[in-house]
Amino acid sequence: MKPEAQKIFEIFKGKEIYLVGGYVRDFLLNRKSEDIDFATPLLPEQIIEILESNGLKFWETGRAFGTISTQIDKLKVEITTYRVDETYTKDNRHPRVKFGTSLKDDLKRRDFTINALAMDRNGKIIDYFKGKRDLKNKTIKTPLEPDTIFSDDPLRMIRAIRFVSQLDFKLNRKTYNSIKKNSYKILSLASERIKPEIEKLLMGDSVEKGLDFLLKTKILTYYIPELTLLKIRQNPKYHHKDVWNHTLLVIKNCPQDIILKWTALFHDIAKPFVKEIIDKEIHFYRHEELGAKIVEGILKRLKFSNKEINIITQLIANHMRVNLYTPEWSNKAIRKLKTDLGDNLNNLIELSIADCTSSKKEKIENIIKRIDDLKERLNTLTIKEEIPLPLNGHDIIENLEVTQGKIVGQLKEALKKALEEGILPLNANKMIYVNYLKDYLININKHI
Ligand code: ATP
Ligand code: MG
Repeated sequence: MKPEAQKIFEIFKGKEIYLVGGYVRDFLLNRKSEDIDFATPLLPEQIIEILESNGLKFWETGRAFGTISTQIDKLKVEITTYRVDETYTKDNRHPRVKFGTSLKDDLKRRDFTINALAMDRNGKIIDYFKGKRDLKNKTIKTPLEPDTIFSDDPLRMIRAIRFVSQLDFKLNRKTYNSIKKNSYKILSLASERIKPEIEKLLMGDSVEKGLDFLLKTKILTYYIPELTLLKIRQNPKYHHKDVWNHTLLVIKNCPQDIILKWTALFHDIAKPFVKEIIDKEIHFYRHEELGAKIVEGILKRLKFSNKEINIITQLIANHMRVNLYTPEWSNKAIRKLKTDLGDNLNNLIELSIADCTSSKKEKIENIIKRIDDLKERLNTLTIKEEIPLPLNGHDIIENLEVTQGKIVGQLKEALKKALEEGILPLNANKMIYVNYLKDYLININKHI
């Protein structure tokens, strides 16, 4: 048992309190657990009193929900008063909570048998719903009638599938059928509740299974219907998979970074809309451009932050560029890629590597070699290299009303630096550079 868990048992000496939920599941699976959950019949004010008298800081995750959080060393610990069945209000954000007095009732209202396990202070497992058997059989199953469990809180259907992805478990047949029947109920969920579950699913080792279940149960139809169109054939000359299966592989190939996983999920979303057959060959001209626009709409709908939207859509709009690289590219073209993408360039390179999902080893090796060459050239593209300045001394004196001398050199230097660092675009209208230098002058004058 983790020392942090032990500490809670110690300070709650003589009181009824159990480790529950994900921690017990992960402990039995030998998996690392992010957080620790306890359940107790003590009321929130009693929990707070005990934490305070032991000098532990706490915060309430909404006292009405009966959860008090604390931190021991770096680990988050949640202590929750037993509940009996809870129903969610209309917006599905705030559960109406009734406190209970029995551990069994508390475990009964949990989502899956593998999450309805408890552990006492001596490490003994309490298993009212055959959770240990289902852990062994690698099965996700609800402790009660699935139709009721899923109707009470439709998020549980998405949680079921994210556990498939994280743990490589299967869905019990009845549970699966119930999800299929009830999937439309996720329409009533707030996107803020869905997003963290989907993110855990996207980061799972069996993400392809998880996403296939989202598709088959129609959860995807109600969450991101645009993705359900991806089951279309591509040009067999270049791709041996349909767009959906290619997408799943790209997600799997990506490094464990959630922004890259989302981007991979969406990168070919526009292909069904631009598909053309020319001379018996399938083409998807400019799907990356339209894709970025479609994804911007989806991400706004799903309440992503502007920062996330900007990064993801920029990657999608540019996702064909790295793969088009050839050694014939001029330094100017490479510099343009660098300035256009800025901090997002590494992400784009990672995405482009993950995007090679051909089954032909030779082809993959070829692409990786080309990308390595590009990386090398990006690295050696040093700041020392001459960038032609878009303003000469005369332009500067004329437009900035400065006199010949040291200041002209200083302004030229500032302009060069801004171009090299990508703060200013190359080949823009002259006035962009003039205005930049005007601001620069105002700033240095302020500091004199
Ligand atoms: P993770 O490893 O991602 O933390 P978890 O199973 O611990 O997974 P939490 O969201 O931390 O998930 O929830 C802790 C426990 O609370 C779960 O194991 C489960 O018993 C219960 N639980 C969480 N959400 C729900 C829900 N929507 N319906 C029923 N029980 C839930
Ligand atoms: Mg947890």
